[in-house]
Amino acid sequence: MAEHAYDFDLFVIGGGSGGVRAARLAAISGAKVGIAEEYRMGGTCVIRGCVPKKFMVYASRYGKDIKKAAGYGWTAENVSYDHGIFAAAMHAEVDRLSGIYFRNLKNAGVEIYEERAEFVDAHTLRLKGSGKTITAEKILIAVGGRPWRPSPEELPGVEHAITSNEVFHLEELPKHIVIAGGGYIAVEFAHVFAGLGVPTCLVYRGEEVLRGFDADVRTAVHEGLKDAGVRVITGVVFDRIDKRDDADLPLRITLSEGGHIDADVVLMAVGRRPNTEGLGCEAAGVALDGQGAVVVDEWSKTNVANIWAVGDVTDRVALTPVAIREGHAFAETEFYDKPWHFDHADIPTAVFTQPEVGTVGLSESDARKAHGAVDIYKTNFRPMKNALNGDTSRIMMKIVVRASDERVLGVHIVGDDAAEIIQAVGIAVKMGVTKPDFDRTCALHPSAAEELVTMRTKWVPEVTG
Ligand code: NDP
Repeated sequence: MAEHAYDFDLFVIGGGSGGVRAARLAAISGAKVGIAEEYRMGGTCVIRGCVPKKFMVYASRYGKDIKKAAGYGWTAENVSYDHGIFAAAMHAEVDRLSGIYFRNLKNAGVEIYEERAEFVDAHTLRLKGSGKTITAEKILIAVGGRPWRPSPEELPGVEHAITSNEVFHLEELPKHIVIAGGGYIAVEFAHVFAGLGVPTCLVYRGEEVLRGFDADVRTAVHEGLKDAGVRVITGVVFDRIDKRDDADLPLRITLSEGGHIDADVVLMAVGRRPNTEGLGCEAAGVALDGQGAVVVDEWSKTNVANIWAVGDVTDRVALTPVAIREGHAFAETEFYDKPWHFDHADIPTAVFTQPEVGTVGLSESDARKAHGAVDIYKTNFRPMKNALNGDTSRIMMKIVVRASDERVLGVHIVGDDAAEIIQAVGIAVKMGVTKPDFDRTCALHPSAAEELVTMRTKWVPEVTG
């Protein structure tokens, strides 16, 4: 048994996706590992992100599915939704998953501290609950991010709004919800609440939601929000939020262009920030960027030789599977003598709008900037399922191909099951698939996905005038 100069070989701050993966792997290698988590094991994804959000997405789809079933001969009468029943089931499942994370750490031999840890110096941490001080040879920062919102000076009355942290704990459905933002969280929850029958309004400062995504995806999602009955107001921000105690809709939002909207729930979904405030990074000498993100190299190493950081706190790509891969790479590099680092190119991602977005690789405009000439293959069709059910939504598919060698640079889908389809397409794109490879692949009929391998004609923009 090796003598430890420090209390731990590795101490991980934060029990989310990235931290838990790294802690478990390191402990299984025989290292002495500790982890501190101030809230609940599982992090944003399990406790107040991906997992409960996806349950809310599922819950919100059933209403439409039940109505649509009429086109297939089904009669469903007296259909109703009980938010209490759903919320209890959702929270029970989150509890179960959090428990599994906890037990997996314990079984791997990780010492768990259910309290906050802050740096004293590069090898020393203070545990805030017990006041205990511990030392570690290596430290991994995996504290994630948190919802950001403007200060009360910037937006008077912002304290009356909730964020994605609180949205899972609404005891009843809102009478009227207003959502600020046009990113992943804003558009996903707009569909969730609209699907649950809540009058929903989305206020976005830009012209079309999902900035950074392919332009055709943005248009399809923007139109999809309106089709779902969401009132979408663009080009404005909130000026102030006032509380009116005796009103049925007690929150009055004044918009920057002067009008107002009343609501009982206001959700700020205007971005997230790295969770480094009060972590003591200065005491350890760890460099942060202007947004408070820990600056790391491709090995997830900070400017301090014994400190690494993975996941949302590094503000690279804020997605759970990315944090897991970064944590995995760190642990195998440092504790298994198997050095590798995660390649952040071609990460498949989904936005769980209704219908959903699945995308991998470059948007058309990013591909043109990076590679010059590109060919575009595009289709927009009514899926077979919708022929009988009265659903007017369509599927948009787009392939972005480098003109010089027909390499596929990006694939973008908006439509039912886009997330499931894009995961498989992601394998091919990562392998360097070409458009002729798509063409050589036999279609699977009848499916929506078959259109991906039957698009033969390059899309040519319409010339008018
Ligand atoms: P995003 O960064 O995706 O979007 C923030 C939105 O808020 C943008 O529309 C932005 O507008 C707007 N905004 C920013 N500042 C202001 C302001 N001061 N006033 C008004 N509007 C403002 O953040 P989210 O919170 O939606 O999500 C955070 C991250 O979490 C995502 O980027 C993603 O990585 C991850 N996530 C992933 C999910 C998934 O995989 N399905 C689901 C949910 C989250 P503009 O476009 O003009 O900048």
